[in-house]
Amino acid sequence: MSIDAKNRKKPTNNFRYFSLYCLDVIFPKRCLGCKKFDTWLCDKCHARFGLVVEQRCPLCTNVITPSGITCLKCKHKSNTFIDGVFVASYQDIFLKKVIHAYKYRFIKELSAPLALLLAQSLQNAHLKVPDLIMPVPLHDRRMRWRGFNQSQLLAQELDLQIPLVCDNLKRLKFTAAQVKVKNRQKRLKNLEGVFGLNDSKAIAGKKILLIDDITTTSTTFNECARVLKKAGALKVTGLALARE
Ligand SMILES: [Zn+2]
Ligand SMILES: [Zn+2]
Repeated sequence: MSIDAKNRKKPTNNFRYFSLYCLDVIFPKRCLGCKKFDTWLCDKCHARFGLVVEQRCPLCTNVITPSGITCLKCKHKSNTFIDGVFVASYQDIFLKKVIHAYKYRFIKELSAPLALLLAQSLQNAHLKVPDLIMPVPLHDRRMRWRGFNQSQLLAQELDLQIPLVCDNLKRLKFTAAQVKVKNRQKRLKNLEGVFGLNDSKAIAGKKILLIDDITTTSTTFNECARVLKKAGALKVTGLALARE
């Protein structure tokens, strides 16, 4: 008798890690680019990533703006809260492959070479030094599924000697991944009331840098910024590896 896949019991975390262990034995560590052994990403393949030279307005993405700040037209809309978003790369297929392996094959070691890309793009950005760095939070359910917050690991690896705050901004609701929600209005709706703060007082007067792995049309960044600005943040800027 065949088992209906939908009715199969979901594997527990232990089962998942055991499966991944088996996969590692069958498919040992090899560079995701050139298949060189004993590394997930060799230096040569890391150097292949083409960093974005000109940043765009994070909300409309139509206008090239200095340091990825929001364009004048978007800035004056009532639902704009984010001040700018830096993206390391726009359409780098290899980078997307590496990010996918990081998030869905749970290869945590990739956080170091990916954070290096964030550091390189920050250097190009001439951004004023923020007071705090915050990763975009995951809902507990997704955190349990993945076992780590990919944005938090990137922020930790970035190691900018700026306070990293991971326990203030929180995700209150479980939502569909933004990339799966096609229309911008629906994306905004999908995020309504999703983020909250544990301690709003700690935010007042601060310049904050938010970190995420991938951004679509920056609606997640903008929604986080809305919550942070409401608590009195002076400026909220985002930094992501890629734009979908
Ligand atoms: Zn390689
Ligand atoms: Zn714009």
